[in-house]
Amino acid sequence: MNYQVDEKGYYGRFGGAYIPEILHRCVEDLQKNYLKVLESDSFKQEYQTLLRDYAGRPSPLYFAKRLSGKYGCRIYLKREDLNHTGAHKINNTIGQILVARSMEKTRIIAETGAGQHGVATATTCALMDMPCAVYMGKTDMERQQPNVEKMRMLGATVVPVLSGNMTLKDATNEAIRDWCCHPSDTFYIIGSTVGPHPYPDMVARLQSVISEEIKWQLEAKEDRNYPDYLVACVGGGSNAAGTVYHYLDDERVKIVLAEAGGEGLLSGRSAATIQLGKEGILHGARTLVMQNEDGQIEEPYSISAGLDYPGVGPMHANLSETKRATALPVDDGEAIAAAFELTQLEGIIPALESAHALGALPKLSFKPEDLVVLTVSGRGDKDMETYLKHFNS
Ligand SMILES: *Cc1c(COP(=O)(O)O)cnc(C)c1O
Repeated sequence: MNYQVDEKGYYGRFGGAYIPEILHRCVEDLQKNYLKVLESDSFKQEYQTLLRDYAGRPSPLYFAKRLSGKYGCRIYLKREDLNHTGAHKINNTIGQILVARSMEKTRIIAETGAGQHGVATATTCALMDMPCAVYMGKTDMERQQPNVEKMRMLGATVVPVLSGNMTLKDATNEAIRDWCCHPSDTFYIIGSTVGPHPYPDMVARLQSVISEEIKWQLEAKEDRNYPDYLVACVGGGSNAAGTVYHYLDDERVKIVLAEAGGEGLLSGRSAATIQLGKEGILHGARTLVMQNEDGQIEEPYSISAGLDYPGVGPMHANLSETKRATALPVDDGEAIAAAFELTQLEGIIPALESAHALGALPKLSFKPEDLVVLTVSGRGDKDMETYLKHFNS
């Protein structure tokens, strides 16, 4: 079994590049060039230097003693929350902006929902002195005001999107429209393992530094370079893809993907796309999509803005279809409880997204010798308002 992308951009039935005619050249250009760039010595050197000196890598692999005691196994946390800008997203934006520059693009666009990818993109654009436009739904701009202010301070233009529900899906559509109008000079930095081929593969490779580090860090601490379980949360799937990348073909390692259950699978307010989605095309890829019988996208819901996406990466759709990965829905309340638990046991306030990965722990049964690596994709500063609501009630 091979869980990697094939030459045509498919993971099993999922993936591909379903794009408007006007973007064919751009996407084809990227398909032809991305591997050449990613594998070149000059890219590798600059990417690795920036990850180390700018983003702060390697991120620690921390043995969580009290959390381990609670769940009766050995749990390590991969601390992506300690990266510059507070999450794993910077690994991807640094990589893509270097790809953009080597393809002689002079302008960057991006979409953002919660604003995290927008901030990571605006950050790297400031670093590289590139003009940057970030598309963001008006509803999200109101909900995520501090991130809008950060992007503006970093020099990006935040473009309010007024179509549809004025959230992430609409912002993505608008960014694609911009790309269609400026195909020659503009590079579209996508924030997760979604979109037309080669984006899911490119983003997975750029995040694969996470599992590359887990390998040598585990070897140093445990004398074996693989865990029994890998656990990560899934919105579009980029932190999970990075966490599992170098273990995909190692069947000794069980993969657990935590999805946002929202208010419950049957509540009509959920973002558990792997459980609830049906096969369809979303943002240029064939994947699992939350849709009604007429193929209209259903608005997802999660307490966590970063998991609130109606699709999932084609890699993850295939991993669950082939049963290589187990997808577990974790609902809002379970995620909140898990965030307070980690805070009280380890003194680490996780992002709400990462709290969903932690919320999967009580749903698994471990043996005492089991080694578990769980990725804390981001820090909780941005979620304090939500946490405090539950703290005081
Ligand atoms: C954006 C985000 C996610 C979800 O995105 P993936 O592509 O699924 O990783 C998860 N955690 C944090 C902290 C995020 O900012």
